[in-house]
Amino acid sequence: MVKEVRVSNEILYVCERCGLRYREKIWAERCEDFCTRYNACSIEITKHAVKDLDILKT
Ligand SMILES: [Zn+2]
Repeated sequence: MVKEVRVSNEILYVCERCGLRYREKIWAERCEDFCTRYNACSIEITKHAVKDLDILKT
């Protein structure tokens, strides 16, 4: 299940398998799907993840 978290004034979606955060729910769902199936992250998906620096900047 993708988890929603509020960071300052925006909602991020968290992959519960690897803990990466995304602005778009669809990417969090794809990430979790991939993580669950292969027990690893896909670089193609994780490049859409939000880094801590991106959050601090906004
Ligand atoms: Zn993941």
